[in-house]
Amino acid sequence: MNKLPMPFPADRITRVFGQDGHSGNDWGGTPVGTPILASGLGTVTDKWSNARAGNVTEITYDAFGIKAALCHQEHQASLPIGARVGLGTVVGTLGFSGNVVPKGRQGAHLHMEVTKGGKLVNPLDYFGDGVVGAQAPAQPAMQAPPFPLPDGWYFGPQDGPQWSVSGFHGYRDELRQFMQRMIDRGWDLGPSGADGLYGKFLGDVTEAFQREKGLHPDRKIGPATWRAAWEMPVT
Ligand SMILES: [Zn+2]
Repeated sequence: MNKLPMPFPADRITRVFGQDGHSGNDWGGTPVGTPILASGLGTVTDKWSNARAGNVTEITYDAFGIKAALCHQEHQASLPIGARVGLGTVVGTLGFSGNVVPKGRQGAHLHMEVTKGGKLVNPLDYFGDGVVGAQAPAQPAMQAPPFPLPDGWYFGPQDGPQWSVSGFHGYRDELRQFMQRMIDRGWDLGPSGADGLYGKFLGDVTEAFQREKGLHPDRKIGPATWRAAWEMPVT
């Protein structure tokens, strides 16, 4: 199983688990007030404040059966004990409450203490695959399959000139491929879906797509429109 993502975009680890008997892992270098987010599905199982750990929210995650105490928060979110949380639920904000070194704002960090079966474990064994709410990595550019028609031909209505290919007399699989790609991009091609035939739905969608991408909105699927369906970002 993958690890859970980090609850905020920590700049660095400032003290590791086990170092001089350290009971958790510290992440710091990030401004006070940065939201601390739940790393996945779980339940708020305790909340408290004391002179050592400051403002603490304890979340029991469904994954791994672990409890994570999020310490030194500036503020705790007003989640009652027993509240369910999901990926990205705001639990509190990064702060320097309790005993931090150095004292005050300079010492702001998240001390996360994780227990499993009542025993302290190393938080880095369970957290650290990415960051909650971080941008997904950009999708690698996709390369369009080669435009399947001869030069000067396009996919278009059946009642067009002979170089307007509708799929009714050939190239149906190729047109189906384009239509499926448009469906994958989120366009609604109507009840017959990717049937490989150029009809009104496909004409309308093609025109809307061309307008969105700054292409000439002529409803014809030529090489530029074909390529755009694979290579332009989905917006
Ligand atoms: Zn610590």
